[in-house]
Amino acid sequence: DIDPLNVCALAVTAGEGARILPFVAGLEDELFEHDGQITKREIRAMTLSALAPRHGQLLWDIGAGSGSIGIEWMLADPSLKTIAIEQSPERAARIARNASAFGVPHLAVVEGAAPGALVGLPKPDAIFLGGGGGGSEAGVIDAAIAALKRGGRLVANAVTLEMEAVLLCEHAKRGGSLTRIEIARAGALGGMSGWRPAMPVTQWRWTK
Ligand code: SAH
Repeated sequence: DIDPLNVCALAVTAGEGARILPFVAGLEDELFEHDGQITKREIRAMTLSALAPRHGQLLWDIGAGSGSIGIEWMLADPSLKTIAIEQSPERAARIARNASAFGVPHLAVVEGAAPGALVGLPKPDAIFLGGGGGGSEAGVIDAAIAALKRGGRLVANAVTLEMEAVLLCEHAKRGGSLTRIEIARAGALGGMSGWRPAMPVTQWRWTK
């Protein structure tokens, strides 16, 4: 008989490759299947904190990539729900694989481009906008904000200058707060070591 409170025993029963995960957001990037387009661990932890999940709430993860944000949202509590919207069919399939591997196969994946793909979806309590820079972001933000419930949170991260410009504009127009996140990891530099900076991320947070 296996004691359900004994995670080691559970991992053994789950077999080879079973993973024991910590309870807080910011899981190692390499735990996710991804193609390089993933919100990095430290940024992800800060993003989940900003999204501030509460019991039973629904997240729209728009431009979900690997699905890491929507998956960590659901891992925070079994009552939480995610709809991941992703335009690339290859990435949409990857999101479903990651969700299954993390034990949240009920994460809903919508394959399609926002804002069109958002029409008719259940209204969210929180929205994450994770990428792009292709020019349609202002339209996506308008549609997202229209759908967001009162008191809901919108968190948008920009890596590109184009996306950052959109966020600066939205902040000037609607308020909220802006944060610039700069992370550097130590790495080898010749025979010694040095800081390897990641690209800075501009984060806009806004509450409806
Ligand atoms: N947060 C993700 C990474 C996002 S990368 C993670 O942690 O894995 C940005 C993603 O947005 C890409 O996969 C891209 O295909 C998608 N994307 C860009 N514009 C989009 C749009 N208008 N609708 C849906 N997906 C979009």
